Amino acid sequence: MSDVKQAEVAASSEDVASSWAREDLASLQARGLRRYLEPLESPQGPVVRVGGETLVNFSSNDYLGLAASPSVRAAAIAAVERHGVGTGASRLVMGDTSAHHRLEARLMAFERAEAVLLFNSGYAANTGILPALVGVGDAVFSDALNHASLVDGCRLSRARVVVYPHADVDALAKALAETPGRRKLVVTDTVFSMDGDVAPLRDIVDVCRAHGAALMVDEAHATGVLGARGAGLCEELGLEAQVDLRMGTLSKALGGQGAYVATSRVVADLLISRARPFIFSTSLPAALCAAAEAAVDAVETDSDLRPRLWRNIRRFSDGLRAMGLRAEPRSAVFPVVLGEPERALDAARRLREAGVLVKAIRPPTVPEGTSRLRFCLSAAHTVGHVDLALESLRRVGVHARGG
Ligand code: PMP
Repeated sequence: MSDVKQAEVAASSEDVASSWAREDLASLQARGLRRYLEPLESPQGPVVRVGGETLVNFSSNDYLGLAASPSVRAAAIAAVERHGVGTGASRLVMGDTSAHHRLEARLMAFERAEAVLLFNSGYAANTGILPALVGVGDAVFSDALNHASLVDGCRLSRARVVVYPHADVDALAKALAETPGRRKLVVTDTVFSMDGDVAPLRDIVDVCRAHGAALMVDEAHATGVLGARGAGLCEELGLEAQVDLRMGTLSKALGGQGAYVATSRVVADLLISRARPFIFSTSLPAALCAAAEAAVDAVETDSDLRPRLWRNIRRFSDGLRAMGLRAEPRSAVFPVVLGEPERALDAARRLREAGVLVKAIRPPTVPEGTSRLRFCLSAAHTVGHVDLALESLRRVGVHARGG
């Protein structure tokens, strides 16, 4: 049978969902938006093996190189020995361990917060917290470039959602003044995940105060990176006490998995009784709690970690600017915006040939027409790694959109 005939037979005998999937995948493929998995063949780190190649990795959010660090690994292993692997239930049923409480206490001190509550992921935290706090009759105000998990949390809440233009505090103030709502909640990333820029948080705090609105921030890409102690943008600006809810992840600079919210005791108590991902999902494995505790220890005590990250951030930023690209050394994330998905895919392919692993980020992760390379710097990168990325970009001749 010819290949074409064989494909026809396969298609005609397939189930309904598979025929939907085939149609949708073909459409994604045609627009350069189909995704493929590619497993790592080495531990996470600044240099990884993937697809049989050894590449310098600029696509992990492991900003401090803690994911494979000896102290973090050892803490996880010891916790597995002590608690086992799975927790067997949600925390409210039988999955609450001393490791969860220890980590929450550790994070309360780190975040200088009255209470901390763990979630299984940043996605679970954001989609759980927002609907627990606001609902029908309320209004939530969300930055246009907020992470998808906040977008989904807003939608799930069934509150009226007002998306304000990115980092535009005047527009936010106007929306707060004009939008009716029993409760008003403003939500923003502190470091924007795909652009690496930072929210105008001081002004946002003032505007929230003027309008009696609550404020929730997502510090996923700021925890471990910003602030004198590494506790994020709120710490850097001394705003810990002015922000009602500060969400952070354990999955980026802290090298593990999971998330937390630093807030008041009464808000944490409400979340325990109302946040659906907290209530209806098996709790975080104890090993990940112990790993996160060791990672916070490293952030607080290893005086070399953040200076090494910031040395790399500044070197990369200077190098991009020397190439005429727009770059601000404000976080560990640097976008090189190229436009259409194919341009980003092609640039990523050519950089990979030069030994540099950087993924093309395409819609819906970023807005249409802004597909990009997203470089993530790590404390574990050497100066040589950073220079390789810069030299390869130069050789590949990337021409950024508006760069
Ligand atoms: N918030 C932001 C800003 C993020 O970038 C991400 C993940 N990339 C999340 C939340 C979700 O966190 P997690 O990966 O732990 O689910």
